[in-house]
Amino acid sequence: MPRYEYRCRTCDDTFELSRPMAESSDPASCPAGHGDTVKLLSAVAVGGSASSPAPAAGGGGGGCCGGGCCG
Ligand SMILES: [Zn+2]
Repeated sequence: MPRYEYRCRTCDDTFELSRPMAESSDPASCPAGHGDTVKLLSAVAVGGSASSPAPAAGGGGGGCCGGGCCG
């Protein structure tokens, strides 16, 4: 179940709720019971950035015959 972050405008606190995606925009009450809350944009990273180390392109994959060790 996805987690959503909300902020209470009454006590200016942020809290998280685990709820179904269909209820993500439903009103949420803060832990103190206030109902004046706003949903914050999730900081979940959903792809988009190439952070994984990419293997060296080219070279043939052997790594030996390119460095002169094969004769
Ligand atoms: Zn509150």
